[in-house]
Amino acid sequence: MSQARFTSCIPLPLEHKTLVAVIEKAKDWALMHGVGMRDKKNFTKDAIQIAPFVLLPSPFPRTEFNKAVELQQVLNELMHKVAHDDDFLEHTLQNALQVDEFTANLYDIWVKVRKEGIAQPVSLGMLRSDIMLESRCPHTENQCAKHTPYCSWKQVEINSIASGFGHLGPVSREIQSYILRQLGFGELIKNMPENKALSGLCSGIIEAYDLFGVPGSVALFVVEEVSYNICDQRFHEFEISETRPDIIIYRKTLNEIFEETSLNDKKQLMLDDKVVAVVYYRSGYEPAQYPSQKEWDARLRVERSTAIKCPSIHYQLAGTKKVQQALAAPGALEQFLGAGAISGRVRDIFTGLYSLDFDDSGERAVEMALEDAERFVLKPQREGGGNNLYGADVREALLRMRHSRERAAYILMERILPPLVSGYVVRPGGPVPPPLADLVSELGIFGVIIGSKDKIYSNRQVGHMLRTKLADANEGGVAAGLGALDSPYLLDL
Ligand code: ADP
Ligand code: MG
Repeated sequence: MSQARFTSCIPLPLEHKTLVAVIEKAKDWALMHGVGMRDKKNFTKDAIQIAPFVLLPSPFPRTEFNKAVELQQVLNELMHKVAHDDDFLEHTLQNALQVDEFTANLYDIWVKVRKEGIAQPVSLGMLRSDIMLESRCPHTENQCAKHTPYCSWKQVEINSIASGFGHLGPVSREIQSYILRQLGFGELIKNMPENKALSGLCSGIIEAYDLFGVPGSVALFVVEEVSYNICDQRFHEFEISETRPDIIIYRKTLNEIFEETSLNDKKQLMLDDKVVAVVYYRSGYEPAQYPSQKEWDARLRVERSTAIKCPSIHYQLAGTKKVQQALAAPGALEQFLGAGAISGRVRDIFTGLYSLDFDDSGERAVEMALEDAERFVLKPQREGGGNNLYGADVREALLRMRHSRERAAYILMERILPPLVSGYVVRPGGPVPPPLADLVSELGIFGVIIGSKDKIYSNRQVGHMLRTKLADANEGGVAAGLGALDSPYLLDL
């Protein structure tokens, strides 16, 4: 069966002259509206370059988009409950903890702060559920004619830390709207759903700040040594500063937090003699961001404090691949969401997820993957892109790890095959015009949830982002230079 294909929102290819002219305008629009990133090759803080973007919005079925938007509050609640279920986290992570030092370090912090008594019961979740359309319909064509060229979407993963693109998501809609108008297709903009991700995500930080309720307290963004994705992060700061000029935001690395903060006798996190109300992590999700014990000590200090964390350490644990896989096991969703229809709706979005634990079912999963490695993705307990294995590498890794406990730190996931669409990807330093290429997209839906173990104060869906990559690329991280910014063009099929 050939891969399904959507028709692009306007007839392609564009005439050479038109294409070159509109790209020149669009690049300037990008630079002047923060559709940018820092240059990794020639780093300077004095300039940004355009972020890669897709010239025209990519088709996405309206019913599937709405389904994703509608399900987000359920997913928020699910993550919140998982994060607060100590037994489930312990049971689910126990094998991975023995072989994965990074997850074990996070887990140790969780154990320590629980033992000491939790100073801040409230957590701020700023989540992003990433999904792809699955174009292979499990039904025969006449059973399922109305579903072609897609069947439904499936979840790739849910992010509970540093869920980025609150700015770059919405601004992608704006740049593509500008391009459509320049090309004489302004009337199509009505098919691009509104996207208030930036204000929605920032409302979570502001609400947590108010809940903390200490006048003169500050918000702290935990950042990398060098933030390439600077526009996305700064626009969060600009948004908060405009809506709430009273909230002062600091940006600090984990190392700076180690050097510059302290806990007072009330367990308040102090920075420059100010109490920290909210800590928002845009770093801290991968081992390289903890180069020494200092960073781990900083993380522990923040975790011990009264500051409301996004995420708290248990939220980060709830966002691991291993937990995602465990939730797909029979009965797991029901434990959190009850036996009714809601669990069924969530189950529908899972594709095949298998444990590689050192037991019978793990062994069966290894055998299944060795038989047809192309069908699967092999995922370690990591975030941030570039860590998964595909195709021949899945086979090679499984052969190597088959008799080693190391394999418990991985999960096996069925590979999703999204529909194709033709389009142009504009890249910094890339050819103008770029070639017309086959692309595939991944939609992220943002959610905000604030609450403690016993009480949820707020739970909402707040917007979306779309990333698109060449159809033959395995991964599509935009900051990693593989994916490109995009936004959905809703289709009534
Ligand atoms: P990370 O936490 O590193 O972002 P993900 O699980 O999101 O890990 O995987 C990274 C990328 O790999 C995704 O954005 C997607 O492009 C691709 N990918 C992951 N899982 C699948 C899958 N099951 N099918 C197809 N592509 C996938
Ligand atoms: Mg991801």
